[in-house]
Amino acid sequence: MRYVSTRGLAPEKTFSEALLTGLADDGGLYVPYEWPSLQSSGSGDYLETAFEVMSLFTEGSLDEQILKQIIHDAYSSFDAQEVVPLIELDDQIFLMELFHGPTLAFKDIALQLVGRLFDHELSTRGEHLTIVGATSGDTGSAAIEACKDRQNLDIVILHPADRVSDVQRKQMTTVDSFNVHNVAIEGTFDDCQDLVKAMFNDLEYRNSLKLGAVNSINWARVMAQIVYYVVASEKLGSYEQPVIFSVPTGNFGNVFAGHAARNCGLNIPRLLVASNKNDILTQFFNTGGMEISEVIPTLSPSMDIQISSNLERLIFELLGRKGEEVNSLFEKFRSNGNIDVGPDVEAKFSNAWKGYSFDDEEVVNCISTESEKSGIVLDPHSSIGVLAARSHRDKKNDPEVPIVCLATAHPAKFPQAVERALGYCPPLPDRLADLHERPEFLTRLPNNLEIVKDHVKSCSRIDSGKQVT
Ligand SMILES: *Cc1c(COP(=O)(O)O)cnc(C)c1O
Repeated sequence: MRYVSTRGLAPEKTFSEALLTGLADDGGLYVPYEWPSLQSSGSGDYLETAFEVMSLFTEGSLDEQILKQIIHDAYSSFDAQEVVPLIELDDQIFLMELFHGPTLAFKDIALQLVGRLFDHELSTRGEHLTIVGATSGDTGSAAIEACKDRQNLDIVILHPADRVSDVQRKQMTTVDSFNVHNVAIEGTFDDCQDLVKAMFNDLEYRNSLKLGAVNSINWARVMAQIVYYVVASEKLGSYEQPVIFSVPTGNFGNVFAGHAARNCGLNIPRLLVASNKNDILTQFFNTGGMEISEVIPTLSPSMDIQISSNLERLIFELLGRKGEEVNSLFEKFRSNGNIDVGPDVEAKFSNAWKGYSFDDEEVVNCISTESEKSGIVLDPHSSIGVLAARSHRDKKNDPEVPIVCLATAHPAKFPQAVERALGYCPPLPDRLADLHERPEFLTRLPNNLEIVKDHVKSCSRIDSGKQVT
């Protein structure tokens, strides 16, 4: 299995190379050279299906026994035996719970696997990476849980001091591991991001510490997410059985994995792209064009995004896999802030995708209505997916076809919206119940590049030759 860049100018890579590279040298994203075909439907067992799917994408790069072991280890930390339980809400509308991992959000599904893949690949090569990232709360904890205790990685995560919620901070700072370093920056999330960018832009510094990222454009993250689409389809019958998925969307990584599953042979007549009021994707799927504007803060902060980086993978396909065309489209996008793929291309995809967008009030109402109907308490992100599914059904689209709504976070992770809807804060699951009593480990630093760089250097075991026994 080989991987090519969406901009067509970077060299082809194997799976392992694409894993470690992340963003291609030409600024593009890696995608499979061609889509593999799924063989026959399995029983919906998560670990078995994960192996079936991922062995297609890692073929030639990763030993099958090692892949099996990594899959087993990655998902044994989940607190649901089925990993991603599927529940029927009512007639032919289902909820697939993707939040049973260590940090209560769906990012664990990809990151628990990717952290281990990184560690394996680095140890095979005798290399070491210092992962550096900025977080406004959500991704940081999933990355820390994925990288903790790994011999060949150190991880340093910057968050804005006093500007992330208590639960989110504690999910990061209570992790006690030799290779985990939390830094509270006296500044905003943007300041944190600027510091990280500046560290990556200093090539000498970057190379000496072997800085790395586990960001959402990494192909391996998309690959890991294809699995639950396949599992859902197996549980509902077989790959031939039509299933629609409704996906709360921000960076387009999750829903693109659905499209990848479709390309591998699942019968997915439509993907519902569910957004909050940052509705640039709704625009795109309704018109084939989109224009950037300011990010609007909402009750579903993990979807408060204007530029969905993974959309480039879909655009590559829509433009007939012509890297040069993708390149010039994104150059125009950078200078004008808008994209238009034109009516011919739009006609090609408009039937397979449908964009929906909802505001905070609709989200709060949905949480209370669904809780009255079924007793299920949704988090605000998942609620946007359920709203899209209900709205699709109410318009009499695709009668009889089951719709699977992906639930991307546990309600206790975003208690504010639930409290507004139901008047109480949902409790944390048992294994996190003592979170607020656990000791915290973090370093508070001013928003100063030199000080932060020195600190990151002192955390990295590369530079100092520090060894862990
Ligand atoms: C990251 C995230 C999303 C958005 O997923 P994308 O892959 O970025 O589209 C939705 N919900 C939650 C809870 C998330 O953490």
